[in-house]
Amino acid sequence: MTPIRTRFAPSPTGFLHLGNVRTALFAWLAARSTGGSFVLRVEDTDQGRYVAESEAAILETLRWLGLEWDEGPEVGGPHAPYIQSLRVDLYRSHAERLVEAGAAYWCTCTPERLAAMREEQQRNHRPPRYDRRCLGRQDEVAAERAAGVPAVLRLRMPEGTTEWDDAVHGPLRYDNGEVDDQVLLKSDGFPTYHLAVVVDDHLMEMTHVIRSDEWIPSTPKHLAVYRALGWEPPRFCHVPQVLDEQRQKLSKRRGARTVLEYAEAGYVPDAVVNAMALLGWSSGTGQEVFGRDELVAAFTLERVQPSPAVFDPQRLDSLNGLHIRRMSTEALMEALEFHLPGVSREARTRLVPLLRERMVTLRDATGLAAPLLGPAAREEGAALPPRRVSAAVAARLLDDAAREVEAGGLDDLEAMRHRLTEGLEAQGVRARDGFRVLYIAILGRPAGLPVFDAMAFIGAEESLRRLRAARAELES
Ligand code: GLU
Repeated sequence: MTPIRTRFAPSPTGFLHLGNVRTALFAWLAARSTGGSFVLRVEDTDQGRYVAESEAAILETLRWLGLEWDEGPEVGGPHAPYIQSLRVDLYRSHAERLVEAGAAYWCTCTPERLAAMREEQQRNHRPPRYDRRCLGRQDEVAAERAAGVPAVLRLRMPEGTTEWDDAVHGPLRYDNGEVDDQVLLKSDGFPTYHLAVVVDDHLMEMTHVIRSDEWIPSTPKHLAVYRALGWEPPRFCHVPQVLDEQRQKLSKRRGARTVLEYAEAGYVPDAVVNAMALLGWSSGTGQEVFGRDELVAAFTLERVQPSPAVFDPQRLDSLNGLHIRRMSTEALMEALEFHLPGVSREARTRLVPLLRERMVTLRDATGLAAPLLGPAAREEGAALPPRRVSAAVAARLLDDAAREVEAGGLDDLEAMRHRLTEGLEAQGVRARDGFRVLYIAILGRPAGLPVFDAMAFIGAEESLRRLRAARAELES
């Protein structure tokens, strides 16, 4: 297997949602599954769209997911710096080479002229394209530039067609006549994405470019730059977009949660990684639940589908519950720290077996454990006695349970449950109905954590206090 050297190249224009990060995951998996390298590069040349803090949030997101990068910000590497705003001179010198090769030209058209041209094209239902007015007057343009007129550098899209074999979409072909003369350097001297991405992917020795298929129409431009500079292009792998349930592109504007919001809401990294992996990829064996190592072992770019993937929040929930159940007690105890603030490690360790089977998200621990960590607030509508249980049966069960606890019943929960079950059944009451009395007495609600384990957790004294308080309530 040839090692894949690839990258994730986010622009710090906002926080990462599952759609963005799914692309990072595929790149990471492609690298890890072939023993290659995963590079992180920050594409921050569009200063107008820069969102403060998003860069730090991107690094935090990838680290939280466990998508460690081999080279990039804070890690360094042989091609540092990995932040494009620190590499502007490189882009300018390559822009010069393009001019010398006749593959790029300067353009001093004013924004007003370009806008009028676009309007006209729109009116005539023609695609927006620069009309190459400046291409035929480069001497004049040079004089204008010398006199300080702002200019952009444009790619001179060659004649003919552009073809490439996309790893996901197969053979793709564009008529170059359909492709605009892309701006490569802006009038402020900063490169556009289209120049910077090619220069960096080449200099950073990428074998594969794995990115969203929104970039397919830009690829002919990029290939033109590769050719003009005499470079071998990498393999392009355009991965499908991620859609929401309304089949719209996942976007922050449409309410998509950021990955860090999922973290806060109690999703675990392995579940998020598992759910994202299934967005456009499948193992071909029907397996849906993957640990990280299993994913690395099973992943191939060849099995990435070209059609858009639809994100299903229910599937993420069910995977989250599954991955929580797969976590070690130690890992779960650590992970619960955020959701059970102020609860000691020892108490969290004792809580884990009670909570593990009942959580969809880690955040569920907060509500589930609350009655064990302080006075049990009574849930609305949880009256004593509950439906289908008479006051007499409830009173007797509470008395029996209190006697059991006093006699050391918490030391053998199974035996205690067995005796209380028998007591209920002898009165013709189903244990399931009867035990709701205990749930309400101990936990303040008719269901929740296993009630006998809960009693063991709060201890004999507190259990008795709650059983007696409930008993008194029945009397009143
Ligand atoms: N900076 C681009 C983006 O955020 C990267 C696209 C690419 O991977 O080439 O979409």
